[in-house]
Amino acid sequence: MDKIYGLEKMSLVDYDGHLCATIFLAGCNFRCPFCHNSSLVLDTDNLQAYSDEEIFSYLESRKKMLDAVCITGGEPTLTANLEEIIDRIKSLGYLVKLDSNGTKPEILKHLIDAKKVDYIAMDVKSSYAKYKKVAGITNNKLIDKVLESIEILKNSNIDYEFRCTLVKELHEKEDIEGIGELVKGAKRFYFQKFTDHGYCIKDGFSEVDISIANEYLDIIKKYVPNASLRGY
Ligand code: SF4
Repeated sequence: MDKIYGLEKMSLVDYDGHLCATIFLAGCNFRCPFCHNSSLVLDTDNLQAYSDEEIFSYLESRKKMLDAVCITGGEPTLTANLEEIIDRIKSLGYLVKLDSNGTKPEILKHLIDAKKVDYIAMDVKSSYAKYKKVAGITNNKLIDKVLESIEILKNSNIDYEFRCTLVKELHEKEDIEGIGELVKGAKRFYFQKFTDHGYCIKDGFSEVDISIANEYLDIIKKYVPNASLRGY
């Protein structure tokens, strides 16, 4: 298998209500300039994968302590053997949460229909008009895929959230209205606090002040009443 490039052995924050391990898959089709996992997005040829033995013997040994595994990246749906990885995690009895940027709606739909995952956290990074800029790409093809994924999640029975990391230099009030239009009627929405740990794709980004974040929260609640701040 050998496609897992990072392991956080225990997390209380990656899957709300669960004590989980988090595994990191590499590669992404976005280049969000504020991305804090740049090593998993750029220069992936030089990454060293964990062995299956390291990952799965750890998960096997923690079955009584942890109840879930969060799969993140990078963008996990770009990993060809994602389903195999999920199946192996599931065979150990864990719940599986998947993080995604939503650019592979057909994969999300398949995983939902086949009941392979228990929770999906999908990014909705900006309004349609500003999405390319925030995702660091030059055309709308992938953004249209994101829109497809939003509809798939909204119309599914899976437990899910949409989320947006707020970046002072990238988000303005009008973008929040635009995000609201995209996610209108969704089950749950979070605005996440941006933190720069020094590994971003580009420098020069900062967090949105809590008073502004609360203004944005009031806006998004018109579209998704079950909305909250995370990390503030
Ligand atoms: S923030 Fe997510 S979607 Fe954006 S480049 Fe990083 S891993 Fe990809």
